[in-house]
Amino acid sequence: MSDDNVMYDSPLELMQEAISSGSCDVQSVIPIPEGGFRCACSCSGWEIVVDDRTEGLRRARQHTDETATR
Ligand SMILES: [Zn+2]
Repeated sequence: MSDDNVMYDSPLELMQEAISSGSCDVQSVIPIPEGGFRCACSCSGWEIVVDDRTEGLRRARQHTDETATR
């Protein structure tokens, strides 16, 4: 009866799981010391640097839209 125990302990584990699957499940927008934000996707086929967070989130959505449409 371990079915109740499938929750991940941390977002990091969830991220690792998504990365290993190679799909566009998780996007990250992280501030970088150089200025701006680095955007990356769990499919590891997408990584850009943008000036502000809103732009990063917009581009991330754009990326997932593109990859979801086949
Ligand atoms: Zn992706």
